Formats: sequence, structure tokens, C-alpha cells
Amino acid sequence: MATSKTTNTYNRQNWEDADFPVLCQTCLGDNPYIRMTKEKYGKECKICSRPFTVFRWCPGARMRFKKTEVCQTCSKLKNVCQTCLLDLEYGLPIQVRDAALKMKDDLPKSDVNKEYYIQNMERELARSDPGSVNSKLNEPNDLLMRLARTAPYYKRNRPHVCSFWVKGECRRGEECPYRHEKPTDPDDPLADQNIKDRYYGVNDPVADKLLKRAAAMPALPPPDDKTITTLYIGNLGNLTEQDIRDHFYQYGEIRSVSLVPKQQCAFVQYTTRAAAETAAEKTFNKLILGGRRLTIKWGRFAGPYWPLQP
Ligand SMILES: [Zn+2]
Ligand SMILES: [Zn+2]
Ligand SMILES: [Zn+2]
Repeated sequence: MATSKTTNTYNRQNWEDADFPVLCQTCLGDNPYIRMTKEKYGKECKICSRPFTVFRWCPGARMRFKKTEVCQTCSKLKNVCQTCLLDLEYGLPIQVRDAALKMKDDLPKSDVNKEYYIQNMERELARSDPGSVNSKLNEPNDLLMRLARTAPYYKRNRPHVCSFWVKGECRRGEECPYRHEKPTDPDDPLADQNIKDRYYGVNDPVADKLLKRAAAMPALPPPDDKTITTLYIGNLGNLTEQDIRDHFYQYGEIRSVSLVPKQQCAFVQYTTRAAAETAAEKTFNKLILGGRRLTIKWGRFAGPYWPLQP
């Protein structure tokens, strides 16, 4: 397959199973023998206010306990994790995903309408695959592929920073279950955000940051020398020459693929400049193969091949 989707496909198989929560790989943690406690109608869903089954678990050693925050219907309506509310496919905030897909939030905000809407959608979800409720979610999208997380981010499950320690007042020392370090982790502001805003995709500071980052992402200008038809492909890991060929042939006729296993890179030379330019445009900053985001640069053959830019 050309672009492998992220780690979360297994959730889809579990969606029908009410005995298991809808979670992203990060929230679930890396322990395959995870134990969960389940409390039927344990809390009100933070979005639709209906009681739902609350799951609690510890996502790994020295991680904080997690629980589901919204009901399965609300999570399926937006295709998000029941705990962190990030998109299950891309690991991105709803606001980012919806901006990229140009989707509008059409969930009624008034309680009566919301209840009616949710009941209807529940029936719809029971009948069909959740993806079909929002078919736009299945469309490939450049922006989402560029921003997507390609691997779980377990650091997000660490305990919160100890507020006493920050003030120099924690007396619990080693015993303290909270983190004794400066609260500078830019990737963990999720806890401070308003869960409803995040669900409706508004006023989400993380989303703003990500969208700004996307806008500032550099492009890959083609070199002035029109005879150059070679691309440098880096960060290959264990990918083979065949993997590279299988992906890059779709942009045009390939003259040669040279793998440099020592440097985990390859050079793909096209027969035409147009094909090389297409390939560069379609892959730069967004090609994920075998779970790795590949580095794409223009290259040149000069004795050994070498990338044009550092
Ligand atoms: Zn709900
Ligand atoms: Zn999650
Ligand atoms: Zn402490």
C-alpha cells in the first residue's frame, strides 16, 4: 500500500464490542496485558451528559491512570479516542482535522436537540460502519498526512507535573506520584483545555499551533538545473529497493533506484524532469512508508549520488 495509515486500525474491529473502549494507541499504552476496570453508567459523558460505561486503566509503568471521558457514541460521531479526543486515524485534534478536511461541526449544542440528534446517530452507527457516517474522513488529505503522528506518543501518559514541587513546597520527595520537573512540555497542554471546545473543534490552542506549523512548513523547490531528475529518499530503516520502487513508480517512469543501505537512503532517478517534480511534490514532508516518515530531497549523480541540500 502506498501510504500506510497510523497505528489505530485495530480499534475499528473493536468498535462493535461494547466491552472495550474506543481508544488510541497512545492512551491504551504499550502493555499488551493491560487490565481495565469497568463501571457501567459510572459517569456522565462530558459531551452529551448521558451516563456511560467508564473504563479505568494504567497505560504503563510510572504512567498516570486514565479513564474514558466521553461515551462511545460521541467518540464514534467524531472518530476520536474516548479519552484524549484526538482523531483515531491521525492522532490530531478535531479542529485540525476538520480544518484540513473542510468539515463543519453540525452537532446541535442545545440539550434537547442534541439528545434527539445523538439518538438518531446512534441508530445510524448501529447500522453501518462509522466511517460511512462521515465519508469525508476516508478521503486522503495532504495536510493531515504531513501533520499526522506516525507512532504512539506514550510520554503523554506520564503523571502531571507536581504543582507543589513547582512552588518548591512538595515534601513527598520520591514518594510523590506527580512529576518533579519544570512544566515545559509543549506537547502536554491537553489536560488544561476545555473538553467541549476540543470536541466541537473551536478555541483549541494545540490546534492553532499545529495549523501554524503546517503553514510554515518549508516547500521543496526544484533545482534550477533542469537535467536533475533524481530524488534523495532518506530515513529508510529496513525498507527495501522494491518498497521504494513500488511507491515511486506511480509518479512516472523510473530510470534507476540505488539503495545506500549504510546511510539508510536511496536515490530514485526518473526519466523525465516532470515525473521527478511530481514525485517531489507528492512525497515531500508527507510520505509515510512502513510507519516511517521518509526524508525527501533533490539529489544528483556525481560519481556517488549525493543530496543537493544538507
Ligand atoms: Zn456522549
Ligand atoms: Zn487517546
Ligand atoms: Zn510532588
